[in-house]
Amino acid sequence: MDIKKLVKSEVSSLKAYNAKEVPCRIKLDANESPYGFADAVSKIAVTRTNRYPDPEAKGLKRQIAKDLGVKTENILFGNGSDELIYYLITTFGGPVSYPVPTFSMYGIIGQALGEIKMEVPLDNDFDLDIDRFLVAIKKGKPKLIFLSSPNNPTGNCFSTDRILKIIEASQGLVIVDEAYQPFASETGMLPLLKDYRNLVIMRTLSKIGLAALRLGYMIADPEIIEEVNKVRLPFNVNAFSQAIATAALKGKKELRAFIKTIVSERESLLEGLEKIEGITPFPSEANFVLFRVDDPDLVYTALLKKGILVRSIKDVVKGCLRVTVGTPRENIAFLKALKEIMS
Ligand code: PMP
Repeated sequence: MDIKKLVKSEVSSLKAYNAKEVPCRIKLDANESPYGFADAVSKIAVTRTNRYPDPEAKGLKRQIAKDLGVKTENILFGNGSDELIYYLITTFGGPVSYPVPTFSMYGIIGQALGEIKMEVPLDNDFDLDIDRFLVAIKKGKPKLIFLSSPNNPTGNCFSTDRILKIIEASQGLVIVDEAYQPFASETGMLPLLKDYRNLVIMRTLSKIGLAALRLGYMIADPEIIEEVNKVRLPFNVNAFSQAIATAALKGKKELRAFIKTIVSERESLLEGLEKIEGITPFPSEANFVLFRVDDPDLVYTALLKKGILVRSIKDVVKGCLRVTVGTPRENIAFLKALKEIMS
């Protein structure tokens, strides 16, 4: 039997998300935090393995709602925000629009679900090309627009006034994916949630030290939450993740300190990169830095030979690699290795 022929054409032409494990000494490829919450793991008291988890993750929801100053009815959890992208597109359908380059899952999931994709190139400053977006909205009437701000892989926040123009012009939902918001100098869109019913904000615990838990959440009008909740798989967030996240998020001081260190390390990394001849780094509001080199393949391979794993972005941004902010020691080792390679 030819399995390939059985597969839906949208899926057979897809490329799987690149999440391979590459053996390395210093892992700076996946925008994870170098700091975890081992204490939270030892504190949890989940002992029942025979019962399903709380389907609504009520305890964790109450805590996050309190932290954000929203109601629990405004929140829905996903097994990572990836799952919420799936749910949003399953619930509302397409066309699905997003700027490019951006996080690849909007396109992968849109295509897997057979929806029309409308990709709008960013401008030369990696900001939203508002004229092109407004034309796309008028012509294509996207049901969903995904805006990753700060944007992965470029690292910048999109201008708030352009995001607002898109929200105001759109007859569909605008999902501002704030996966990297904790590292940004701007507050993000949360204060504007009450003013725009078609605004959805997506966040994740993956970038702040809890990637292993697979926990993302969306914040939106309760009516939106109610509809998306219809397609949510029952018990999508397991009991251990709920308990560990609840314990970890109670340690606010530690969380703030980790984020502060990552932000200051990002600035040192940027300064270090600027000093290396042949490297053009781009400013970042996230926990990673994008940089351009003449020969990205050569640099990627040479870094890996020295045990350092970064992400190649050359297929979407010419000549570019992306490095995640690591611990001070990891960042120094990375800069040293890169300097040696470039000289
Ligand atoms: N949005 C953006 C912009 C991302 O970069 C990522 C992770 N690479 C995600 C969402 C997915 O995060 P999660 O781990 O919550 O699925």
